[in-house]
Amino acid sequence: MHPLWIPATGLVCAAVGLALGLRWTRRRGPDPRIQERLEALERARDTAELANLELQEALNELEQAAGTDRLTGAWNRRRFEEAAQGEMALARRRRDPVSLIVLDLDHFKRVNDTHGHAAGDTVLQGAVEALRGVLRTSDRVVRWGGEEFLVLAPATPLAGALALAEKARAALAEREHPGVGSVTGSLGVAEHRPGEMLEAWVARADAAVYRAKEGGRNRVEADGESGPALETGRPLLEILWEEAYASGHATIDTQHQKLFQLANALLAVAGPEDSHQELSLRLRTLLAHTAQHFHDEEALLTQARYPDLPEHAAEHQRLLRAARGFLADVEAGRLDLAALVAYLAFDLVRGHLLTEDRNYFQHLVK
Ligand code: GH3
Ligand code: MG
Ligand code: MG
Repeated sequence: MHPLWIPATGLVCAAVGLALGLRWTRRRGPDPRIQERLEALERARDTAELANLELQEALNELEQAAGTDRLTGAWNRRRFEEAAQGEMALARRRRDPVSLIVLDLDHFKRVNDTHGHAAGDTVLQGAVEALRGVLRTSDRVVRWGGEEFLVLAPATPLAGALALAEKARAALAEREHPGVGSVTGSLGVAEHRPGEMLEAWVARADAAVYRAKEGGRNRVEADGESGPALETGRPLLEILWEEAYASGHATIDTQHQKLFQLANALLAVAGPEDSHQELSLRLRTLLAHTAQHFHDEEALLTQARYPDLPEHAAEHQRLLRAARGFLADVEAGRLDLAALVAYLAFDLVRGHLLTEDRNYFQHLVK
């Protein structure tokens, strides 16, 4: 036997053991030692009756490590963010839907003001219990912050998540919180779009909550942009956003993602049997957003004194001219579909957003 075999085998065994150990702890959830330490610190704080800053910081750190919110036992933001990335990747691989529900309690400040902070805390715990009562075990309840919660629902399309949100709304409204009475919530629902970044997804669900509040509270609203108008079947081709495409500049990334989404919306109706009117509307929308994006990008690049700005701006003009040409063709009923698909996928997205634009990323002031 070669003399290196024994240490090499040992190393492999140790690595496998470590990997299995890690899998085991991850599957079982948070490390029980962290939970124990968290509880011991909480007891220490309660007996000392004064929230010493150091103790509070230690508690916060441990809470983060444990992945759960101390008050309600719901997942905390960090744990959700990790899990959501995994769910998004899985949904994409399996072409499965995944939805998000955001719940914001109504007039919660009044609960605190009228009944005190401790009663408010009990309501927060009750709200999580109400949510848990209607969810499947695979659905995750998250305390997003304050009196705002989030439910991650894997393998659930928008319609299913809306039904789930409605059940959660009713369960919450029917619940009696000791000494407080009933408390309602406003809910927003959004299905994840392939390639969409987590922040954008949460923002869409949040915007729906905002509409639920405006509509009178104690109600569920679906994200407007993923409604039936955009769901007209599988597109000819889907252009997927990847985290690696991000420049790190918020405006540029949001606009680039929006262009991906609009290009996909256009491809979804770009079949010979589809109405010219819808195609023309979506192409106009894409054109308007592209023009706005190019304008904003040029302003940022001027500010950053990007040396290749003149060439870059000329390329913008060329792309806009081509898009206007396609629009004229659609309206004249002589669209070359293959040419439009090639323009979107290769010229605008791959050639420009993913190639030319990368040259200036390092020049941007973030
Ligand atoms: P809206 O219907 O518009 O959502 O009104 P609101 O009063 O719920 O909204 P606002 O965001 O003004 O108030 C949220 C309140 O939630 C204010 C804050 O004191 C309270 N809050 C946040 N975190 C906690 C907590 O951990 N415990 C308690 N008791 N209250 C909290
Ligand atoms: Mg709020
Ligand atoms: Mg609120």
